Amino acid sequence: MIRRGYGGPQRYVQGPGVIHEIGETLKSLGARALVVVDGFFWETLRPQITASLQAAGITSEFVRFGGESSEAEIGRCVEAARAFEAAMVVGVGGGKSLDTAKITAFRTGARIVTVPTIASTDSPTSAIGVIYSPDGVYDRVIRGGRNPDVVLVDSALIVQAPVRFLASGMGDALSTFFEARSNLESHSNNYVGEGKGYRPTIAGYEIARACHATLMRDGRSAFAAASAGRLTAAVETIIEANTLLSGLGFENCGVSAAHGIHDALTVLEPTHHFFHGEKVAFGVIGLLVLENRPPEELNEALDFCIDLGLPTTLADLGLGAVSAADMARVGEAAMLPASVIHATPVPLTAGGVADAIWTASALATERKRRRGTGDASVGAH
Ligand SMILES: [Zn+2]
Repeated sequence: MIRRGYGGPQRYVQGPGVIHEIGETLKSLGARALVVVDGFFWETLRPQITASLQAAGITSEFVRFGGESSEAEIGRCVEAARAFEAAMVVGVGGGKSLDTAKITAFRTGARIVTVPTIASTDSPTSAIGVIYSPDGVYDRVIRGGRNPDVVLVDSALIVQAPVRFLASGMGDALSTFFEARSNLESHSNNYVGEGKGYRPTIAGYEIARACHATLMRDGRSAFAAASAGRLTAAVETIIEANTLLSGLGFENCGVSAAHGIHDALTVLEPTHHFFHGEKVAFGVIGLLVLENRPPEELNEALDFCIDLGLPTTLADLGLGAVSAADMARVGEAAMLPASVIHATPVPLTAGGVADAIWTASALATERKRRRGTGDASVGAH
């Protein structure tokens, strides 16, 4: 029997200064909060959060995030949450602090709250947490079966971060609709629940579509504003697209070749210096070539990425002189049985994936030349 399923956070709140209302927003979740805060915000945000929680009758304890979402770090937070009898675990910071907070909450049965301070990926809304080794090597994904109870996004805080984060988030969000379509066409299951997932709902697919439309409409305007630290309506809609729409879209529809190419590229060291969303943006171009989508679609995606300084060529990723043997390794890595690339609705081979990546880069190089930029460097660096 085919079952469809939809999942998402209980509540999503976004706006300038919403962090000052964190106490009111979390009041219904319980009276004791363990707050895992990124070291960067330890001095600045901790006093504000404490005061707001206190005013709402929530007692809090703080853990300074150690920098890596590792078993050791998660173990330390689980111990703190149990000792404090935390009703909720609140993560404040980038992706790794949020993952640590989420997994701590999964393991202690506490409610989950994420407070992202950058909009660089779509993970804050999801029921997924990633574990890394103590020195930052990807280990595994934890599917907790529960999404955050509250996602609190302070746009005034987000716009203060370097614009490269927002652009990277748009690269990640750019993949959402194309990968949703792959999954729909290949009849694949989504990431909802703890098991094999469900077929996407209309709701999930329409959210992925809205994500794409929002990026095309407001992405460039948001990039211009956020580059100067200005908070405009377009920045707000792009923060929502990067965080909520992209998060719901990928979790409810699944990922495919853009993330599959991203994962495979990590076998080559030069790509380690790029953000997740930057490599995913390059993966989107590869996906469109792999699925042989119409040129208008490819050019729209290329122009978008080029305007935002997102990598579209191998040279942009530090792979201008990549060998045929290394490209073959990337193709093979993409085809590993556990790879997400298998949700792509076309026949796949390691050689075919490598050929699509190479061709995507060649088409992007040509596009740049025609646009007269000729500049192979990534603008956001
Ligand atoms: Zn992603």
